[in-house]
Amino acid sequence: MKLHEYQGKELLRRFGVNVQDGKIAYTPDEVRGIAQEFGQAVVVKAQVHVGGRGKAGGVKFSTTPDKAYENAQKILGMDIKGLTVKKVLVTKAVDIDKGVEYYVGLIVDRNVQSYTLMACAEGGMEIEELAVERPEAIIRHRIDPITGLRPFEARAVALKAGFKGNLNKIATMMVQLSKACLELDCNLAEINPLFVDENGDPIALDAKVDLDDNALYRHQDLMHFRELEAEHPLEIEASNYGFAYVKLDGNVGVLGNGAGIVMTSLDVVNRAGAKPANFLDIGGGAKAEIVFNAIKLVSKDSDVKAIFINIFGGITRADEVAKGVIQALHEGILTKPVRMRIAGTAEEEAKALLAEVNSPLIQMYATMFEAADAAALEANK
Ligand code: GDP
Ligand code: MN
Repeated sequence: MKLHEYQGKELLRRFGVNVQDGKIAYTPDEVRGIAQEFGQAVVVKAQVHVGGRGKAGGVKFSTTPDKAYENAQKILGMDIKGLTVKKVLVTKAVDIDKGVEYYVGLIVDRNVQSYTLMACAEGGMEIEELAVERPEAIIRHRIDPITGLRPFEARAVALKAGFKGNLNKIATMMVQLSKACLELDCNLAEINPLFVDENGDPIALDAKVDLDDNALYRHQDLMHFRELEAEHPLEIEASNYGFAYVKLDGNVGVLGNGAGIVMTSLDVVNRAGAKPANFLDIGGGAKAEIVFNAIKLVSKDSDVKAIFINIFGGITRADEVAKGVIQALHEGILTKPVRMRIAGTAEEEAKALLAEVNSPLIQMYATMFEAADAAALEANK
């Protein structure tokens, strides 16, 4: 779950990270009010779930309340990488020319099976670009999951990265960031820029926090950060059903019983010359009703032109799957061609049920390749 900057800052503040005062606003009038209250230059910042807002014109320095009002007018409603700006963060501004911008961040690094701390003296710009252009400028340090980042390690990393300023304070901020990252089960926790002012003191000017959805059950107090309107409506519906569902950008709806078989199905659809419109795992032992719900969900996706169902019946009974498909057909929900392969437990019963219905919308194949080819053919028509 990606968090907005203001939410990320709220969390980092709990761990002691120094951030500028800031308030959220939804209208230019509110922005002017906040700027007046702060009584100093402010920055008006678009709150959307993407990076690179600055470059896109979504971050504007404002010397007066009227300038802040004008900037808010420009930013609110603006489109940044496909997302509409609905709210802005108004923060007290720092004088960026009187200091330096650094980068610090933690990510889950599968290669070292733990978090890796990254630090770089060239802050401000996006780390993904920097990693491509000048990878040697980024200092990496594996974090021991038992001890977390220790202050002496943080100081060593700060030195190696070439940070200037009060290194003790900077290292402390790195330790605070790392504590937040580990305790909150983040996929990513990043401060970019970490600004070091003329006195050498660090301030987090930006916060990018991405929480691990699979660990959210341990953080019920963070659930209110979830913004349903920012999520894909089908993903919300899928999570209500308890499905593992991911919206993709193709035209073949894909449905299978188990993450492995669904992944394979995505590959097979690609091989057949089409693109999957989604990943949908109905899980093991699914009854007809679950299959029915899954078809209902996938059918709502206007990108879907055909549905590929790939079931290997173990605990899942093929006849239950067939019943779910048939129910969807009878209730008028199934309007797109379904091409399926069902093998294993109760396969014969499933075939018999489908033969009885005998609808051109539903066709069974002996192998997943044939079924995927048939689905691709329908989808690409
Ligand atoms: P991002 O582009 O989405 O990463 O948004 P940031 O919050 O990192 O802001 C982008 C840039 O705006 C930063 O790299 C800074 O150069 C600038 N910026 C952010 N806060 C301030 C501030 O308080 N004062 C000034 N002058 N510039 C700021
Ligand atoms: Mn940033």
